[in-house]
Amino acid sequence: MRIRAVVLHEPRSPLVLEEVELAPPGPQEVLVKVAAAGVCHSDVRLADGELGEGRWPMVLGHEGAGVVEAVGEGVTHVAPGDHVAFSIVPSCRRCEECRAGRLTLCLPAGEAGPRGVLMDGTSRLSLPDGTALQHALMTACFAERVVVAAAGAVPLPNALPLWQGALLGCGVVTGFGAVRNTARVAPGASAAVVGCGGVGLQVVAALRLAGAEPIVAIDRDRAKLELALARGATHGLEAGPATAGDVVRITGRGADYAFEVVGRPETIRLAWDCLRPGGTAVVVGLAPTGVDVSLPAIEFLSDKGIRGSYYGGGDALRDLPALAELALAGELDLAGVVTSVEPLEAVNGALDRLRRGEGARTVLLVDPDLAAYD
Ligand SMILES: [Zn+2]
Ligand SMILES: [Zn+2]
Repeated sequence: MRIRAVVLHEPRSPLVLEEVELAPPGPQEVLVKVAAAGVCHSDVRLADGELGEGRWPMVLGHEGAGVVEAVGEGVTHVAPGDHVAFSIVPSCRRCEECRAGRLTLCLPAGEAGPRGVLMDGTSRLSLPDGTALQHALMTACFAERVVVAAAGAVPLPNALPLWQGALLGCGVVTGFGAVRNTARVAPGASAAVVGCGGVGLQVVAALRLAGAEPIVAIDRDRAKLELALARGATHGLEAGPATAGDVVRITGRGADYAFEVVGRPETIRLAWDCLRPGGTAVVVGLAPTGVDVSLPAIEFLSDKGIRGSYYGGGDALRDLPALAELALAGELDLAGVVTSVEPLEAVNGALDRLRRGEGARTVLLVDPDLAAYD
């Protein structure tokens, strides 16, 4: 079928909203009518060619939600009419990593994702001339419809407006999972959060719900610090040369945890410098391919640790519905991180704001009625 979709033809050139061809869902795949999509910094990394060569032409978008229209053979967990959010890691539940409980490290999903294909190694998207298009992070939801792997369509409660549910599958699950699954932050732990964009604000919210105290938010942008303070940060620091010293002063001896949610060597170093002896830095931010980070090696002597957290380190099929319930219960304010709501046509402007570090999340309304934005 013909759909309108946002295509990356060449890195560092404007994205084009145009008609493309979408093939029907195969076995273990789902066709979804997209309601809304969030714009994430990883979209900028892809659009700017920072995640390696050969990742275009591609239909962008990996954070979104919609309504199931059709299911392929063997799909039983969703049916037409169900509301779903997209998961960028449709774990197979059979490979070595999945069986060990490391679902976000699923081997076949990790193979297919960077190649821009679905789990069977092929694409459902093409240009009208037949040229194959890649699916961004196995999702490609800056589009009227998507075909995703079955496990990439996660059921949501109907009561949650889809423009809010759209945020769950990347920013929210990544931020909450880093706190709950990767770091397992206990009540009373102190924490610093470096970078308060769409994901960093979710880290702050998860820390508040985990009972962390103090929670020191750090960003270059005063407006984002205000959002962090509104979501439970106890302190907001404008990033500068004195920042790490300020965190050490506020927390006493340095933070138990420092979350890096930017993806730059200097912010990873800042997270490290905020730690107390024995503290742990958790790197959530996505750095461009080829970027190295250096740390003062003598400090490993103080038991400081650093580790990554990919896609929340949990189980999307369990975590996304739980986060949706948290939102419906009023414990998680999804709307509060949304700083712009715009039509799909506005995607280039939204990416430009992210490049400038302005604002938190933009939600693109693909089907305003389905999205239920008011
Ligand atoms: Zn993302
Ligand atoms: Zn697997």
